[in-house]
Amino acid sequence: MIGSDGVFLVPGMSEDERVRVFRRAFSMQGSEVMEVDAYALITDRYLVVCDTFLCPEDMDVAMHAVEDELRGRRLLVVNSHADWDHAWGNSYFTGEHAAPIIAHTHGFTRLSSNEARVELKQFQEESSTFRTVVLTPATMTFEHTFTIHGGDLTIELLPAPGHHSDHIAAWLPEIRLLLAFDAVENPIPCLNEAAGVQPMFTTLESFLALHPQRVLCSHGKTTGIEMVEKNLVYLREVEKRCRTFLKTHSPTEADLEDAAAQINYPFDEVIAGSDELADRQFYSDAHNTNVRCVLQWLLSI
Ligand SMILES: [Zn+2]
Repeated sequence: MIGSDGVFLVPGMSEDERVRVFRRAFSMQGSEVMEVDAYALITDRYLVVCDTFLCPEDMDVAMHAVEDELRGRRLLVVNSHADWDHAWGNSYFTGEHAAPIIAHTHGFTRLSSNEARVELKQFQEESSTFRTVVLTPATMTFEHTFTIHGGDLTIELLPAPGHHSDHIAAWLPEIRLLLAFDAVENPIPCLNEAAGVQPMFTTLESFLALHPQRVLCSHGKTTGIEMVEKNLVYLREVEKRCRTFLKTHSPTEADLEDAAAQINYPFDEVIAGSDELADRQFYSDAHNTNVRCVLQWLLSI
């Protein structure tokens, strides 16, 4: 197996010993370092792994760190969604480590798709990190909600579409902890298609209605509910400027490529007053994609 020293435990993120946060740092040739978090939830009955990082070797490291807690508990795995940085370690949980993998039905479809196979091939050509990845779709799927009754902790898996249609969140009511995964992101959420815009607004509003005490997201190291509010304020601002722009313009395909400039909402203005940003190019591109998605959504309604 290839060594995976990119995975480490992050203390202090959850304030509850039963919620362990793991982080994976990764850099594709020449690009900035990205970080993604995954979780191990230690309940009376189950040890629930939420997300499986980039490759099976990542999960090997994480599972060694919780092997004592696994004694006397059944292992369950949850995928927040089928993106490469969240579900490509799934194949660790086959064979001698076999465990049920739970995800939204759309996530099963995404990981079984030809697009996923093409994407994996591209990643494998660019980095040896992905050499042993075998796309492994969930073994248990749901569409509405799925509740894991762990005894001391309940884990409610809730659809949270927007970033992707298969995206889910995990709500732990006893400790009012929300695992938002990629539905909330620091500094901005990431849309991928116009069809995700309305669901993203609904998802963020539903998060606020839960009144969580703590919100963890997969990228960006934040723990407060303020990040949900900030993401919502940002998307509303994008929508407002898009609506103003569309009153006097009919954007062409070329205009949509440069959407943030078209609506006069430069990335520097978006992040003004924010902390130092690690992955500037990534989020600057994501902002442009967000604006394009919102423009396309408004043009379609
Ligand atoms: Zn992600």
